[in-house]
Amino acid sequence: MNALPRFPNHVSIREVGPRDGLQNEDVILTTAQKVQLIDRLADTGLTLIEVGAFVRPANVPQMADTADVFAAISRRPGVVYSAIVPNAIGARRAVAARADALQVFLSASESHNRSNVNMSIEQSLAQAADIAAIAREAGVCFEAVVSVAFGCPFEGDVPLDRVMDLTARLFDLGAEQVTFGDTTGMGHPALVRDLILAFYERFPQAHPRLHLHSARGAGLANVLMALSLGVDRFDASVGGIGGCPFAPGAPGNICTEDLVHMLHEMGISTGIRLPALLDVARTLEGMLGRTVPGQTIKAGICKHLPPDGAPRR
Ligand code: ZN
Repeated sequence: MNALPRFPNHVSIREVGPRDGLQNEDVILTTAQKVQLIDRLADTGLTLIEVGAFVRPANVPQMADTADVFAAISRRPGVVYSAIVPNAIGARRAVAARADALQVFLSASESHNRSNVNMSIEQSLAQAADIAAIAREAGVCFEAVVSVAFGCPFEGDVPLDRVMDLTARLFDLGAEQVTFGDTTGMGHPALVRDLILAFYERFPQAHPRLHLHSARGAGLANVLMALSLGVDRFDASVGGIGGCPFAPGAPGNICTEDLVHMLHEMGISTGIRLPALLDVARTLEGMLGRTVPGQTIKAGICKHLPPDGAPRR
């Protein structure tokens, strides 16, 4: 019989609700609401928060006030407040707004990259090099996300070699972290296994981060597969907000409080206070005027856990 999987003791969660989540919601929150959301998320013990994106407001009206949001949030010590930047202009704006980390997005598929940013992958890599130089000069962290790493809505399968070649180019540019995005929820556990093993083979010293979606319900199954292979870094969105850009009505990001609840039941720490996080999800429901896709907000904290939702020992 195979050995049982050994899970990490601690998992690092990056909260992407304020950017990835809200960007894919129809309701546009006010700046004050976004600031309240981010400050309360930081109060739950989350240490990585994606605040917004420095993109053209005409393209993404939900993110038009990102600089104002950065100016108004309470900077909790120890929390990394990051921003998405598509080019050098966005990178300079993010640095001026005192973002702690700049993230670039590149698609693993040529057709998705063109549809997303109207550039070839090579052109996007040239922009990423400019952004990396700006980040280095400013002394802020430079990170990259490889989107549609688990499948492309236009091309279908994305060869893992291509994903890893792109990853190598991003590490060469100085990326401190490469995240693999299941942008349209096409990932499944066997594919997660193959991608993680391919990553470890090419980059044995590095740690991958996964940005998983649950458009077809496989989100936490994919997390479990990754955990069993030692992955300890995941993105998630409070309330599970955000959708799937290619499937209106389908859920998007995996839900932060559902992920935290599962990890705490497994005895894996996150540093996050679950009741406080559930309170934020409830507040967010009020702001959006709809129920959120998360499940724990409906079912409550399971009796497996102490009432404060702390990890099982
Ligand atoms: Zn996402």
